[in-house]
Amino acid sequence: MTRRIGAVALDLLLPPIALDGGDRPQSPGLSARTWERIAFLEAPVCDGCGAPFEYDLGEGARCAACMARPRAFARARAACLYDEHSRDLILKLKHADRPDLARLFALWLARAAGELAQDCDVVVPVPLHRWRLFTRRYNQAAEIARPLARRTGLRYRPDALVRARDTGTQGGKSARGRRMNVRGAFRVPPRAACRIAGKRVLLVDDVLTTGATAEACAKALLKAGAAAVDLAVVARVREAAHFAI
Ligand SMILES: [Zn+2]
Repeated sequence: MTRRIGAVALDLLLPPIALDGGDRPQSPGLSARTWERIAFLEAPVCDGCGAPFEYDLGEGARCAACMARPRAFARARAACLYDEHSRDLILKLKHADRPDLARLFALWLARAAGELAQDCDVVVPVPLHRWRLFTRRYNQAAEIARPLARRTGLRYRPDALVRARDTGTQGGKSARGRRMNVRGAFRVPPRAACRIAGKRVLLVDDVLTTGATAEACAKALLKAGAAAVDLAVVARVREAAHFAI
């Protein structure tokens, strides 16, 4: 099984066209230079937040932060570390009109969160506020979530969550400030509740820093009757200390 997943994973990670604008697309998908610099996260990782472990602590093992304070989302996985290299690619998707990169990220997530997807029923992206959607024209989390749903065979529910108010940027805020900023910002519209009730949701976002946004989304989904919420992100910060309680 592991070997089969490995073969599929290699296929997923190496799509045929260079997407990052690098000069030598010798490694399919990304230029060799970019490819080498992305810090992909491999097992063992914390089951609760996807943080890399130095040693394999066994299936379902959790880091100290997750043990101290369980999250509203049950499990999380990230495809790579959030550093200057992955940030470059993610910003290209976000601001440089490069939705094609979303398909590559979806491939990464199909691999990194494949185990979670097997237990889930629906894929839901973290929503943008409608004004932000208007100015940016697309929601980067939705662009990743749609091909991920297709690839994992799960139902795609882009309207399951709405951002009821514009929360602005989370940047520059403390962990507590971030939690306060997004508290109550998300809700499941009544018309979507029947599609969420009793379902295990795979929530998708681009970056995980403190987890405040994902947690606010997970709370709204659980309140609407979701059986559980798992989280899949393209990149997460390395330090558990930054994943503050
Ligand atoms: Zn953890």
